[in-house]
Amino acid sequence: MISNNSILVVCGLNVNSDEHTMQIISKASELSHQTKKQVLLAVAGNYDELRFRAFTDCGADCIIFWEYTKSIGIMKYSSFISAVIREYSPEIVLFPATESIKSVAAIISSCFEAGLTADCIDIICDEDNKFHFYRAAVSNSVIAKIVGINSSLSMGTVKEGEFKKKTYSKNDENDNFQIMFYHMNTDEIDKDYLDDIVDIKYREKVEEKTNINNYSIVFCIGRGAEESQTIEKIYRLAEAYNACVVGTKAVIDDNILDKAFQVGQSGKSISPSIYIGLGVSGANQHIVGMKNSQLIIAVNHDADAPIMKYADYAIIDDVNVFLDKMLDMLVSYQSE
Ligand SMILES: Cc1cc2nc3c(=O)[nH]c(=O)nc-3n(C[C@H](O)[C@H](O)[C@H](O)COP(=O)(O)OP(=O)(O)OC[C@H]3O[C@@H](n4cnc5c(N)ncnc54)[C@H](O)[C@@H]3O)c2cc1C
Repeated sequence: MISNNSILVVCGLNVNSDEHTMQIISKASELSHQTKKQVLLAVAGNYDELRFRAFTDCGADCIIFWEYTKSIGIMKYSSFISAVIREYSPEIVLFPATESIKSVAAIISSCFEAGLTADCIDIICDEDNKFHFYRAAVSNSVIAKIVGINSSLSMGTVKEGEFKKKTYSKNDENDNFQIMFYHMNTDEIDKDYLDDIVDIKYREKVEEKTNINNYSIVFCIGRGAEESQTIEKIYRLAEAYNACVVGTKAVIDDNILDKAFQVGQSGKSISPSIYIGLGVSGANQHIVGMKNSQLIIAVNHDADAPIMKYADYAIIDDVNVFLDKMLDMLVSYQSE
């Protein structure tokens, strides 16, 4: 019977890394004596009883085994580990820091949005049963203690030789030698569904960033603010205010911004809390895309520019003068 909140160790992808895997199982076993959590080992490949006994001798309580006789790539192995985590809900997952398994660990951590401590040198469990990972940091000058807070799952990779392999003389045939044969749905594997997950997450991130409607403050670049030094100032301000930078069609046509950021009739409509038009004339085709903004600030050195009619605040000035003042204010605000 496998309980939740166990310690899951991920086996290396080939037998050459078995010693390394056994060192990690030994550490997991030490933690399990303290915490009474089970140590699970996830292995894929060919069935090999002797090999599996060596793993249990080091302290694995149960081996979750997926028989897969072909060669296993990183994505397939990640699919398996991901399925095991979903099914058995471990509390921590430990990976040998081999080149291929480091990639598996990175994929799994991204899928589960779980913290991953690379190259841990120690793992301890405190009196509240919370796991702490330790690793060298700042060019090895300090030891950092890392505690996962965003997810119930914490993960770490461990370099070879970091922990000592120990055996617990369980060679007797009647010993607890528990193997769960895991049956992966091969359709799922063949589809390499993790590829899809990673791809979808990546696309979601990109879409989130390019969706100009996700922002409450928008800086709009017009042809009057197209100079590179002006644009650089706009991006500095936008970053400070977590704002989006969009543009008029003229700016998009001049290849300053991608079409995804065009506001107006042939672009997108936006309704942010604050729209700041910088060197924007206010042609009808632009106004239709931003007129629903809650507060419109227009900066233009031409008091008769059409956009001024729509502006809650019409600032008649050179865009660079305005931007410099804004940046100065930002610096003094930040230094307070
Ligand atoms: C079918 C069609 C669809 C269109 N779709 C869109 C659309 O979706 N979105 C869109 O935006 N446009 C669209 N347009 C284009 C639109 O008609 C305008 O040409 C465009 O909006 C003008 O962009 P702009 O305001 O950046 O440039 P301009 O009209 O050239 O205005 C620049 C402004 O900057 C000011 N300025 C210059 N230098 C400074 C400075 N140093 N400091 C302060 N102010 C300065 C000037 O006084 C001027 O008002 C469309 C046009 C057509 C025909």
